[in-house]
Amino acid sequence: MQQLLTAQQLLIGPHGESISPGAVLIDGDVITAVGSVREIERQTSSSVHRLDYPQGTILPGLINCHVHLAFDASRDPVAALLESSDTDLIRGMSARARQHLAAGVTTVRDLGDRNGLITQLRDAINRGDITGPRILAACAPLTPPGGHCFFLGGEVSGDKEIRERIHHTAELGADVIKVMGNGGQMTPDGPGMTDSQFSPGELRLIVRKAHAVGLPVAIHAYTVETIAAAVDAGVDTIEHCTFLGPDGMPDLRDTVAETMAARQIAASPALPSGWRRMWDMLGPERSQAIADRLRWLMNRRVPVLFGSDAGVPISQHGDPVSTLELYEHIGVPVPGILELATTASAHYLGLSDKTGALRPGLAADLIVVDGNPLQDLQTLRSPKLVLSSGRAAVDISDLG
Ligand SMILES: [Zn+2]
Repeated sequence: MQQLLTAQQLLIGPHGESISPGAVLIDGDVITAVGSVREIERQTSSSVHRLDYPQGTILPGLINCHVHLAFDASRDPVAALLESSDTDLIRGMSARARQHLAAGVTTVRDLGDRNGLITQLRDAINRGDITGPRILAACAPLTPPGGHCFFLGGEVSGDKEIRERIHHTAELGADVIKVMGNGGQMTPDGPGMTDSQFSPGELRLIVRKAHAVGLPVAIHAYTVETIAAAVDAGVDTIEHCTFLGPDGMPDLRDTVAETMAARQIAASPALPSGWRRMWDMLGPERSQAIADRLRWLMNRRVPVLFGSDAGVPISQHGDPVSTLELYEHIGVPVPGILELATTASAHYLGLSDKTGALRPGLAADLIVVDGNPLQDLQTLRSPKLVLSSGRAAVDISDLG
């Protein structure tokens, strides 16, 4: 089916490029033409399915680079997960995937679920059986026995098990290998945030093996030691990337950031939608340190992605705007924020030839909003239409 969408403004991505008034022509799941309304009308038959948004803006769908669909964002998502059968879990994951889509997020990278159930959901969406965002799946993250999020099923000990686990994850159909470089807060009695979970040699093995099977590596890393080892090993993205010293205090080491920038290794800060509540709990000094770190990364030209860690207790599924507001809060101009959440995130996830911009040949992943998001990010809170590969997203009120 051909669809023609017109609007007061098209933000075609990258940075600041717009067409006013503009039109997008879609054939099935791909964009076939983008331009001024007059130009596109000339290429279109009068029988095309047409939607006009004279007060609206059309922009590429958002890309959330760090979510956990298996976690329900309740006070104790781990308990909820452990109590769920696979059938219940996948049903919940499917509903949460649609929450992202209804909020304008047309691609999510899921960085850890139980035993790779996520691939079933991804494949059902890809087949067109159910509506949902494009999913990049990590399956169960690599972690030492009893390590951070061991209950997801990715425990490994020693080189042989590391090799086997990566082979198995690739066979399951993963799109990315996730490794838990440090401990974390979701695993009571597990290693802490500043504890290393893998040696530099093991990290090199993980990256070598993952790249050999054609998969990028995303590492969960808080400490500067683990970040530096991960950069040396050649990982692709660094999740959280908080640059903590052994004492848990910030240690913003320029040489490491400069190497990340030089090698184009992206930081994926995974900032929760409930960051304001978190900052209230942390107090002004520690909140300021988070803002300073983000500005420091950007000033050092480290590529920064958009992600929310949706599913953990303070980060809701389907609330991209609250996380984007954090970037606004620290002074990133809105055009830069929108680029970060679309074109830039697509680039660093290796999706530039599929999504992240309004361009002929790319998937018809787009959002229509009332008003101008360049002037007010809040316009993104209630999209008039979300298309994922040309298919309209469900209305949020349909979600049970
Ligand atoms: Zn996470």
